[in-house]
Amino acid sequence: MVALNQDELRSRVEDDFDRVVELLSDKVALKSVSAQGITGAHMRRSADFVADELRKVGVQAKVVQSSNPDGTPGAFEVIGSKTVDDHAPTVLLYAHHDVQPVPDASAWDTDPFVATEVDGRLYGRGSADDGGGIAIHSGALHALGGDLKVNVKVFIEGEEEMGSPSFIPFIEAHREEFASDVIIVADSGNWSAQIPSLTTSLRGNTDVDVNVKVLDHPVHSGQFGGPILDANTVAAMLIASMYADDGSLRIPGLLGGDPVGGLQRDLDEAGVRGDAGTVGSYRLAGNGSLASRLWTKPSISVIGFDAHPVEGSFNVISPETTFRLSIRTAPQQRPEEAQRAVTDFLTAHAPFGAEVKVSAIDAGMGWSMDPDAPATKGALAAMQEAFGVAPVNKGEGGSIPFIPELQRIFPQAQVLVTGPEDPKANAHSPNESISLSALKNNIITEALILEKLAH
Ligand SMILES: [Zn+2]
Repeated sequence: MVALNQDELRSRVEDDFDRVVELLSDKVALKSVSAQGITGAHMRRSADFVADELRKVGVQAKVVQSSNPDGTPGAFEVIGSKTVDDHAPTVLLYAHHDVQPVPDASAWDTDPFVATEVDGRLYGRGSADDGGGIAIHSGALHALGGDLKVNVKVFIEGEEEMGSPSFIPFIEAHREEFASDVIIVADSGNWSAQIPSLTTSLRGNTDVDVNVKVLDHPVHSGQFGGPILDANTVAAMLIASMYADDGSLRIPGLLGGDPVGGLQRDLDEAGVRGDAGTVGSYRLAGNGSLASRLWTKPSISVIGFDAHPVEGSFNVISPETTFRLSIRTAPQQRPEEAQRAVTDFLTAHAPFGAEVKVSAIDAGMGWSMDPDAPATKGALAAMQEAFGVAPVNKGEGGSIPFIPELQRIFPQAQVLVTGPEDPKANAHSPNESISLSALKNNIITEALILEKLAH
């Protein structure tokens, strides 16, 4: 067997690249919007198309309809495999074939369902998220062809943009078909079109509702205002008590850490301010690197608050109120543990002895990669070779719920989170696009990762 170097793989990928772009363009035209019905004929067509494309690169692929937890028919999933050697490592390649809706096509500069190349980027809904992931897997398997030295399994999901409701039962029902040493999730992205990244961590997400009660009925603010604080004010004091003066959280037991795998480059403050649209006078809260504040330290936001609207308000002391906290947890912390820490803190800090009740709503675990795993090191080396520059690791402040679930179901597997997106990709927004030069380098990267895993 040939030992494939970067030059050989690059020329194979170059020769095949028109096919990959055509695949991606055909995929965009399929309008596989899962929000319009995961069991619809358009989703079946999309799954069939992906299965056909996988067969073209030597994967035995089939379309399987999953079952929802309530037993009703679920998404059209594509699963497949290519076995080369029973003794070789097995790699599971993940992407999803459903795409985000297009609520307003007029917000786009091009037709969202006609792939259009402008200045080296291919525009269209799903061109990056996650048609790009499918294109990477297809391109890498084509480049390796008969020289593939690891066993490959493939899972192309049909309902990721809907929150993957049947994901866990589906994976558990197909445990054998997905069992692998390494899982490559090509549904994230790079630092930029020129600088590659592994996604190193995801924060967890958990909500709690907090009820604050001062009185058993409303009373007149003139008659009782002074010794009796209204429930909204007490709730505001309670919320404020969670923060130190610099705006960092001061809740014992709520964990935070440094960026996983080390911080090669911090986020740019002007960029973060611009993306968020902060008013000019606003000072960013917290301390430490901006990356740690966004990726690996916890944050709490009040996302709902039951108070009387200003319009129609009158002179009454509000007896009780409820607010909802969205807690973004450090990648390694169990969300139930974070909920407990917040609950203990809030009940212990009830201002003026008000009644404070905290109820947990839901809890999604975060995830962090293993920076010392051989697959991680191999992937970073592959990125450096393919892109010609050192990779810059990046975390995600948000969550991709199925990744921790995959890791939970396959605890031994090394999970690599890669992908074709970059800051200009506009996934989930109008004018979604993919950088074609980065796509090419992503394909070479994945081929090199698979090549390195064999040794
Ligand atoms: Zn995606």
